[in-house]
Amino acid sequence: MIADEPSAMDGLADVYIALGSNLDNPQAHLESALSEIEKTPGIAQVRSSRFYRTTPVGGPPGQADYINAAARMKTNISPELLLKTLQEIEQAHGRVRHVRWGARTLDLDILLYGQRVIDDVDLIIPHPRMHERAFVLIPLLDIAPGDLDIPGKGLLNALVAGISRNGVSEI
Ligand code: ATP
Ligand code: CA
Ligand code: CA
Repeated sequence: MIADEPSAMDGLADVYIALGSNLDNPQAHLESALSEIEKTPGIAQVRSSRFYRTTPVGGPPGQADYINAAARMKTNISPELLLKTLQEIEQAHGRVRHVRWGARTLDLDILLYGQRVIDDVDLIIPHPRMHERAFVLIPLLDIAPGDLDIPGKGLLNALVAGISRNGVSEI
């Protein structure tokens, strides 16, 4: 299948996603999610950031710390199909939605899809809260250039310079 060869993907836009978990061995959830993403037809050249332990932001009090990471990939699937694919992986990991920003086995958010700007009911790209979250920006800087332009928000290194690293530590 030529379409699945990395060389066939070279000209495509880079996609960045965020991964997070704070239930049932979070690191294992992230590792297996990454390998499931790698196996998805139409996704190639997946590269992960380091894993970080992070203090929960928002949501109910008393949640466990999160493990967060970011990943970069090339894809020829649409943003909508990518969202559906990531949600299926979340479901396969037993993701249940009870409380906003509550504890979860796996959260996969699309941060950027090239330079595309999307504002649909169920899909907003760039992710609307990414620019203010240290637990997203610090992992992202492991795998993205500092001069990455986040449409409407500015350059990645400027955003990182403006946030506190408190509560985000490499594991
Ligand atoms: P946050 O979006 O603040 O990180 P969350 O990840 O906990 O919160 P979810 O319950 O996982 O929120 O998702 C709520 C909805 O967000 C999803 O059903 C999805 O349709 C929508 N959504 C909008 N934009 C995106 C995006 N870029 N990536 C993933 N989901 C998105
Ligand atoms: Ca999220
Ligand atoms: Ca989400």
